[in-house]
Amino acid sequence: MSDHGCYGLCQACGTTHTLGAANARYHALQLMAEFEALQRLDFLTDAASANPKLAFDYLFQLERGHMFGVLECRDAEGKTVVLRAFSSLYGGVRNIPGWVGSLLAENHYQDLVLPAQALIKQDTAALAQVEDADRRAEIFAQRKRRSQELFAVLPDLYLLHNFSGQCRSVREVYPNERAMPGGVGECCAPKLLCHAAQAGLTPVDLAEFYWGGLSGNKRSGEFYPSCEERCRPILGFVLCGLDD
Ligand SMILES: [Zn+2]
Ligand SMILES: [Zn+2]
Repeated sequence: MSDHGCYGLCQACGTTHTLGAANARYHALQLMAEFEALQRLDFLTDAASANPKLAFDYLFQLERGHMFGVLECRDAEGKTVVLRAFSSLYGGVRNIPGWVGSLLAENHYQDLVLPAQALIKQDTAALAQVEDADRRAEIFAQRKRRSQELFAVLPDLYLLHNFSGQCRSVREVYPNERAMPGGVGECCAPKLLCHAAQAGLTPVDLAEFYWGGLSGNKRSGEFYPSCEERCRPILGFVLCGLDD
């Protein structure tokens, strides 16, 4: 399975569905060349009106680097379409023109995630001001409860689409809910594949790479398989319906 950077066991078929990297690596190398030249993510925007918060020197201050992905697809006429994705970015950046969007619908993000995050921020600000020990303990517990409530509801709101025409939430698909980490559905592979499924595109191959400063054992410009803890458990469902 050396070439299969993207695979997962499908509960419905009882088999492992796979997708190779092959030509997607070529498209990924082109994306890397673009990164070298532009040093930012908003490639459809001209330099004068570029968003400074999407520039690598800003993005890679707080986290050293980032995972990116490329999916080569065919449309109904057999034409090649190349999709690109970033995994969840610091600061809640969700949509950048030319990149596939989040699997969390905009209305849920606006109505649920943003208000909850604002309250959590308020608690954090209050903790920096309040000196009374009892009151601090109260605010601390309140902040913890708020963030637990937010993380508990997210797996119901991240929707996965596959190539059998099915749609299920991350909670429904992830096999062992108790072992489920946060952020399932934020990585490049599920974003790319679910976007393709919804757009009626047929994936051909997929590649994911790291870009930025050395982080752990990840090196800029190197390819990595889809992650084991967040992606592998859901990719069997997502790839279902594609010919292996
Ligand atoms: Zn992942
Ligand atoms: Zn299947």
